[in-house]
Parts: sequence; C-alpha cells; structure tokens
Amino acid sequence: MNKWEERWHPLREEWVIIAAHRQDRPWHGETAASNTQNSAEYLKGCYLCPGNERIGGVRNDNYRDIFIFDNDHPCVGPRAPREIETPPGIYRNRAADGLARVVCYSPKHNATLAELTLSDIKTLLMAWQEQYVELGARPEVNHVLIFENKGEVVGVSNTHPHCQIYATNFVFKSIETEAAASQNYFGKTGRTLFQDILAAECEDGRRIIYENSSAIAFVPYFARYAYECYVAPKETHPGLSGLSRMEVSDFAEALKIMLVRYDNLWRMPFPYVMVLHQAPTDGADYSTFHFHIEFHPPLRKPNLLKYLAGPEIGGGNFLSDTLPEEKARELRTLPDIHYKAAPGVSLA
Ligand SMILES: [Zn+2]
Ligand SMILES: [Zn+2]
Repeated sequence: MNKWEERWHPLREEWVIIAAHRQDRPWHGETAASNTQNSAEYLKGCYLCPGNERIGGVRNDNYRDIFIFDNDHPCVGPRAPREIETPPGIYRNRAADGLARVVCYSPKHNATLAELTLSDIKTLLMAWQEQYVELGARPEVNHVLIFENKGEVVGVSNTHPHCQIYATNFVFKSIETEAAASQNYFGKTGRTLFQDILAAECEDGRRIIYENSSAIAFVPYFARYAYECYVAPKETHPGLSGLSRMEVSDFAEALKIMLVRYDNLWRMPFPYVMVLHQAPTDGADYSTFHFHIEFHPPLRKPNLLKYLAGPEIGGGNFLSDTLPEEKARELRTLPDIHYKAAPGVSLA
C-alpha cells in the first residue's frame, strides 16, 4: 500500500514524512546524458529544461531566468490523503499537508549556481524572498525549507541547476533546535546567540572565508563536516525576506564567492547540501532567530565521502576527522574566479 502521511516520532519528538506513494517516481539521475559535465545548454530529455514536458504531461514555460513550479511528486501537498488510518495507542499521524515546489535557477542545463552571474544570484535571492513570504503566509504552512542537493553523492535526480522548497505543516527539527537555543540564550543573557557566534568568529578570524560590509561567510568553530560553511547577513533578520536591497546585494556576493571557492577547491563541481535556515512561519515570535545559509558538503577529499555511521546516525553527534581552522585555510587561499571562467572574466 502506498501510504502518504506524517507520523510522530515520540522518542525524538519530531514528525516523519511517510511518502511511500513516491516509490514509483521516475529516476532521472545516473544517466550518461544528464550527468556529463560538459553537457549542452539544452537537453531534450531533461524535465527541467525550458519548453520540455514533465511527467504527467505538464509543459515547462520557455523561461529565461528563473522558473518555479509545484512539484509533480510532492512529499507534502494539498492532495495528501485526509482520511488516514488511526494508529493504536500513543501513536499519532496526520495528513502530509503543505506544498512542495521546484525552483530552476537558470534555463541553462549545464550551469551551476556557482557559475551564475552576481545579478542572476540576486534575482534568485529575491525569488526566495517572495516564496518564503507567499508560502509562509498560508495557514497550513508553519515552516518553509529551501534547499539544494548538489552532486551524485547526495542523490540528485537531475543535474539541471535547481533547488526545492518544502513548505510544511511542521517546523523542521534543526530549525526548531536553533530557534529554541536562540530563545533560551536571549532569555538568559539578553543577547542574540548568532551575533555572539559572529563576534567570536571575527575575534578569532581564522575561519572567515569572506566578508563585506553586511555579509559574511565562514567555517564555524563547531563545524560537523570538513568543509561546512555558513553564509549570513551581519544584521539579525529572522528570514531572508527581511534583508534590504543592499544587504541582498552583499549577501549575493558572499554566496557567490563561497560557491566559486568550493568549485575551485578540487576544480570540479563541488557536491553539497545547501539549506536556508529561516525562522518558522507559525506565528510565534522569532525575533532572536538569525537567518543564514548552511552548506553541508559530504566529501572530505575528491573521492572520499564522510560516512555518517555509529556516532552520527546511531548516536546523533558528529565525529569530525578534520580541523575547521585547517579546512578554512584551504578555502581562504583559493581564487574568487571560477576555474571554468575564461581568463579576465570578472566576478559580475
Ligand atoms: Zn535541463
Ligand atoms: Zn542553522
């Protein structure tokens, strides 16, 4: 039976999405056509390229910059069954209500976020702002998770540059934990936790990859992954939508430089999970929450995956085999021009 619902995990106190109805969704990854690095700008068989037909028969717009659509195989959505089997005893379940979307960054199949121009990245940030506001305003949506999985090692099913949005009826656990930590810290000290993290990073200085007047990129002191990085505005805003035009501009620059350095590290498209940490949209007060983007790269070396095993999966805490200061030093010394860009091409 293809069940689709949310189940409460009473020991972890979090929701698990059961999306067994997606088992038969099409697999587009691992094919020679979509994964060759030097593939063409347009791919006939790609369901994200402009004008192409998606599964289910919907045709993509002939889009020129950004294209956003509701996921054809959503894990949360208005079509999730309302009538679900009542579980026994203490068990709880509910409808997987919400909305899942796909955001194509560019009509160019062979582009990556790192290779987009600064102005394209700014446009994308503004699109994310709009999505957060629009989806967050829906009564059934308590949180908007925007993320990009990049690279085969994190299981991308299509290399066309895109990210996903899960607008859910629950708050994702990492955000809930960060929001609670920020609130507790404020209660105890009257200070904003993320501001004190930034202050400590600036005082040390060794893990800062880039900064400008209002944005900063750094490997956190407490990094769990070898090349983990945070990109954040210097001012506290609970969500990306709170950033002014100037701040968006500065943020785009910090993001672009971080992405370029990642790709330059091993002169290959650098795999990562990128996630926007924005405050929940459940109506509570999140004024102490500081929006930031987190990068969780799964590789320690070009062909060496950081396996999540006993401590991480079994225990829930990370064991890092690398020193954040050393990894930050590697990233700090790399050029800001993408290795694929022609000589003389400027950042913009
Ligand atoms: Zn494509
Ligand atoms: Zn975070």
